[in-house]
Amino acid sequence: MSKPTDPPDQRAAEIHDQIAALGPCLPGTLSSRMLRCGNPNCRCRDTQTDQRHGPYLYWTRKISGKTASKLLSTEQAERYRPWLANDKRLHQLVRELEALTIQAAQHAEGWGEK
Ligand SMILES: [Zn+2]
Repeated sequence: MSKPTDPPDQRAAEIHDQIAALGPCLPGTLSSRMLRCGNPNCRCRDTQTDQRHGPYLYWTRKISGKTASKLLSTEQAERYRPWLANDKRLHQLVRELEALTIQAAQHAEGWGEK
């Protein structure tokens, strides 16, 4: 077994600290869309010159396999942008922690590195 001072354990401890220090973690992505409205006579219907309305900002995420989108104001988008970044970071840290733990189990059990 690895001792607590071994580099993988030290990195795992760092990951735990970084996860603990994260603020709110909002799942999903922020996307910007240009849209056509319902008025058939509107300039946005002209396909020669792209005059669609927007950009509109959406918070998009998956809810049981379905994509759900919420229209956001500029202020809302700026407010939640760091929360979305935190969630992305959370998932990176979790994947790294899992990889380290797989290595630790393989090493402890002599299961090989593959
Ligand atoms: Zn229009």
